Amino acid sequence: MIKLHDLYFKPFISENEIDNAVQRMVDEVVSDVQDEIPVFVGILNGSFMFVSDFVKKYPNPCEVTFIKLASYEGVKSTEDIQRLIGLTQDLTNRVVVILEDIIDSGNTLEEIHRIFKNEKVKKLSIATLFHKPEAYKKDFKLHYVGINIPDKFIVGYGLDYNGLGRNLPKVYQLKTTQYMTNFVLFGPPGAGKGTQANFLKETYNLVHISTGDVFRYNIKNETALGMLAKSYMDKGELVPDEVTIDMLRAEVEKNSDANGFIFDGFPRTNAQAKALDDLMDSKDSQINAMVALEVDDEVLVERLLGRGKTSGRPDDADEKIIRNRIKEYYQKTAILKDYYAAQDKYCGVDGVGSISDITNRLTAVIDKL
Ligand code: AMP
Repeated sequence: MIKLHDLYFKPFISENEIDNAVQRMVDEVVSDVQDEIPVFVGILNGSFMFVSDFVKKYPNPCEVTFIKLASYEGVKSTEDIQRLIGLTQDLTNRVVVILEDIIDSGNTLEEIHRIFKNEKVKKLSIATLFHKPEAYKKDFKLHYVGINIPDKFIVGYGLDYNGLGRNLPKVYQLKTTQYMTNFVLFGPPGAGKGTQANFLKETYNLVHISTGDVFRYNIKNETALGMLAKSYMDKGELVPDEVTIDMLRAEVEKNSDANGFIFDGFPRTNAQAKALDDLMDSKDSQINAMVALEVDDEVLVERLLGRGKTSGRPDDADEKIIRNRIKEYYQKTAILKDYYAAQDKYCGVDGVGSISDITNRLTAVIDKL
């Protein structure tokens, strides 16, 4: 990820992909132009890198020139009116290929057609390295397109954000939801994740997703998902990854305008942790930290048996099932400490003490994130 001025951008198109697209465009132009000597016209500033790479790959004689977009001075308008300047060469009867870095709305293209209308060129074609089909509002034909991209702001490979980023050899895309705070509240069964999440979600205005709660809600409502999950939960075993991951994804999608999430009881396996990273990535976001409540096993068993007297949870009522849940945690889930520690995102917190003391310890850690 990179930061330009106030915004963050993530890697989007690699140098290799760009290189392949440019080569393919060159091949297409070569086969269309045949034995004519074309004039390649780059549109400054953004196309300088594309034009440079394009003409280096062009195997036959060609001419290269540039025109530039310039704002009209003295125009009192809120609209940014721009005109192309710098076309001094006589292009009568020439084969002209416009080389554009990116075509989105097509406004520049309209301007290109306006100035070329009076030039008596033999043939005018348009080549653009990047194209945003969703944003394109015009009917002009695009003869050569390198890579179609979604309607999101990009920088690099000649393209800038307020002057910065043109020198980057690959293309980056604007991260749109960069202000989400997401953390995994971690710890063995009975560590107090649910209790603490209820305080933390208020303090930080986050959406709390407890996979255990979602499963229990489905069991109560006798859904197909609930019935499936029940068979595992009753034994203190983990519900299969596919089922759990799909469910988690759906819960996140339901809250698309969230400031961020507290994930409680998820992830519990490596596959779930990877799926969560991918999901956050698709939202232009990330897991900021795993905040773990550390509690001894015997304290856990005692707490869960105590909770079982009032919670109505069958998996809290039986010491054998409780011990199986703790065993599942150490066999399948505890390894996730390493997963997040490797990314420097693991924060351990002592989970023994009064509820408010533990909340204070947690907020002290989260405030530093
Ligand atoms: P919890 O409420 O977090 O203690 O979860 C209760 C039970 O729900 C667990 O013992 C599992 O059977 C199931 N469960 C909850 N979250 C997950 C998960 N992320 N992966 C697999 N099973 C889960």
